[in-house]
Amino acid sequence: MELPKTVFPTMTKNYLDQNFKKLGFGLMRSPFISEKGDIEQMKKMVDLYTEKGFTYFDTSYIYGQGISETNARSVIVERHPRSSFRFATKLPNIEYAKRRYGNIIQESGRASSCIACGSCEGHCPQKLKIITYLQEAVTILEDNKEVTK
Ligand code: SF4
Repeated sequence: MELPKTVFPTMTKNYLDQNFKKLGFGLMRSPFISEKGDIEQMKKMVDLYTEKGFTYFDTSYIYGQGISETNARSVIVERHPRSSFRFATKLPNIEYAKRRYGNIIQESGRASSCIACGSCEGHCPQKLKIITYLQEAVTILEDNKEVTK
């Protein structure tokens, strides 16, 4: 299927990091798709979106009471290289975040997978201390300890 060019102008001006198209793929409706057993349709939609060069997905623990995140894992995380997409979800509180972390993050995408090479920090326009934040995420979400400042 060819996407109409007028709907998707070149929205690639620098934002967050290197240029990328800023039309996000919201997964709020995905529970309703999968409830009908049409996860294959969702895969087609995701694949078309990524084939067209889009990379940003968004979901939440509250969409379908977690079904959206589960769908995201099966149609995106398990089928596409981790470096090929950006993914946002919401963390309502730390205890819930700890439970959800194990559900959505694959072994390769865990905070503890960071080798502190520093490649990413130089590209962040917000100058985020990514390595530090990931180390804190490991402490909280994987080691179940508190971060001491
Ligand atoms: S420092 Fe950044 S680029 Fe390097 S492994 Fe960690 S998250 Fe990845």
